[in-house]
Amino acid sequence: MSTKGVVVRVPAKVNLQLSVGPLDPDGFHEVTTVFQAISLFDDVTIRYGRDESGIVLTLSGSTSQGVPVDSSNLAYKAAEVMCKKYKLSDDLEIHIKKEIPVAGGMAGGSADAAGVIVGIDALFDLGLSRDEMEKIAATLGSDVPFSISGGTAIGRGHGDQITPALGRGNFQWVLALAGQGLSTPAVYQECDRLREGLTISKPQISDAMMQALRAGDPIALGDALSNDLQAAACSLRPALRLVLDVGRDYGALGGIVSGSGPTVAFLVEDEEKSLDLTVALSSSGVVAGVVRASGPVHGARVVETL
Ligand code: ATP
Repeated sequence: MSTKGVVVRVPAKVNLQLSVGPLDPDGFHEVTTVFQAISLFDDVTIRYGRDESGIVLTLSGSTSQGVPVDSSNLAYKAAEVMCKKYKLSDDLEIHIKKEIPVAGGMAGGSADAAGVIVGIDALFDLGLSRDEMEKIAATLGSDVPFSISGGTAIGRGHGDQITPALGRGNFQWVLALAGQGLSTPAVYQECDRLREGLTISKPQISDAMMQALRAGDPIALGDALSNDLQAAACSLRPALRLVLDVGRDYGALGGIVSGSGPTVAFLVEDEEKSLDLTVALSSSGVVAGVVRASGPVHGARVVETL
């Protein structure tokens, strides 16, 4: 093998729509969601051939603090699964440069796991199809298959059955980051509590969302954004309502808690509006950070061989 290492760039996601069905007897919820991959990335470097067995994981980057480096890291788990399935020696060094917020509803851990799957495929010339990689990804977590496919896509089941969404256009996002993450299971639990006694229908994507995507129309897309977990995230973190208000006041076309939050994603018309809102949010005192991004972008892909 001539290649000794690869760098895989993996995107964060926002959910343009997240429709959550009733609590199933197995304790999960069926969801239907529209994902969009956006230009906020982690870089996953995988090197092979230390001649010492065992996976070694290290981290750097602005959001890496407190993220585990042992087998509880989803990227580490992905490497274990790949090595076992393809009978590869596990003398791997994995380094993740993290920029995606942790526990921010942006699928950061899933993105890193997707990066490891794509990276190991390239490093060992496994020749796996995207489909095969997405199947392995689904065994690691609901958001991992989308992190491989990227673009704009519909996720069904637990969000792991992906089909690309027909759409066009490029959208500008302003992301309001929180200082502290929210646990996805806790947000689902709060959602169930708030829904107690209500009849919840099967999850589905609205026609308005599909039309907005087909037309590539940011104004219609702003109106169609919706998230069934938003009330629960705001209930656990009331300050999110203030963040959503700032976006509305400063001309965002739409604002939404991304996934289980607490990141709030605002859709804006153009670069100028994006800068205005970035300044307004930064000076509002209600957010810990602001990032500008655009989407859709590609899924996990090799950007360098070493
Ligand atoms: P999702 O949007 O898929 O629900 P999230 O973006 O809210 O996920 P993550 O950033 O994936 O959440 O992290 C959730 C938890 O998983 C963190 O609290 C962290 O301890 C753990 N974790 C495991 N592996 C990773 C990783 N590679 N990067 C970040 N967190 C990880």
